[in-house]
Order: sequence, then C-alpha cells, then structure tokens
Amino acid sequence: MSSETSLILLKPDAIQKNLAGQVLARFQAAGFVIRGIKMMHLSDEILADHYSHIADKPFFPAVRSFMQETPVIALALEGEDVIAAVRDLLGPTDSLAAAPGTIRGDFGFKDGDAKMRNVCHASDSVEAAQAELKRFFKDGEIFAY
Ligand code: ADP
Repeated sequence: MSSETSLILLKPDAIQKNLAGQVLARFQAAGFVIRGIKMMHLSDEILADHYSHIADKPFFPAVRSFMQETPVIALALEGEDVIAAVRDLLGPTDSLAAAPGTIRGDFGFKDGDAKMRNVCHASDSVEAAQAELKRFFKDGEIFAY
C-alpha cells in the first residue's frame, strides 16, 4: 500500500448532468483527498497528448469533440492505492458493461454513446498519473497542506 495521486477528469457528460457533487462525494467517501481541482476547457493540443493512445482509432475525432462540449473538472486526488481504487469505483470504459454501484454503471450513457460518454477519466498507472498531473496542473496548483 502506498499513497498515490491520480489525475481525474469529470467529462462533459458529468458537467451536463450536474453530477460533480455526486461523483466527488463517492471519491471522498472512499477516503480520498482533493489536492487540486479546477475547471478548464481542453484544447486540441492537450487532447492530442492525453489521448495519444487512441489517436489512430476511428472514434478519436468524436472523443475530441465530446471532450470539448463543455469545460471539464480536473482533480488531483490523493490516497492509498487511489489509482487502482478509482478505476474500480468507475467500472469499465463501456458504461453498458459497468455494474450498478459503479460511477459509470450508475451515471454513464446507456445508449449508442455508452463507450464514450462515461463520466470520468482516471489515470491507469503511476507513470500515467505523473505525466497526466503535469499535463493538467501547473506548478503550485496541487496542494500538500
Ligand atoms: P478508459 O478511459 O476507460 O481508460 P481508454 O483509454 O481505452 O478508456 O479510452 C479513452 C476514452 O476514449 C474512453 O474513456 C472513452 O471516452 C473513449 N472511448 C474508448 N473506446 C471507445 C469506443 N470504442 N467508442 C467511442 N469512444 C471510446
């Protein structure tokens, strides 16, 4: 067990459905602590970096457009094994495959957009988290307090 920090994005479907409070409450109820939080519009450039692993997929342009429908809320979330734990709290990418009780299962789209409009991004490894926290937060925007 070790303390980690994960980069979370509340995606435009979460913003449009006004779900930020409910999603944050789940993270906080699980014992995780907010070290950084901000609302931001995502440029083409930051999305190209963030989603470089899907840049060659046919659905990438739709994902980029979706991620720019509204600003997102970026979180730096800290806690014991937070990276894997938040991925468990989210459930799988496809909201239709996500179990009731998971964030994507409860709040994700259940129609043809179920694989895309899935509420949250969360880092999937320590290495990814380090790169993503640098990508979305400037020096001084993550607080140890
Ligand atoms: P995750 O966010 O669960 O780690 P990926 O890194 O594989 O999933 O994909 C990044 C994002 O791209 C997903 O969260 C989702 O919004 C979108 N996405 C993934 N697969 C598809 C797909 N087949 N069709 C549409 N959008 C997708």
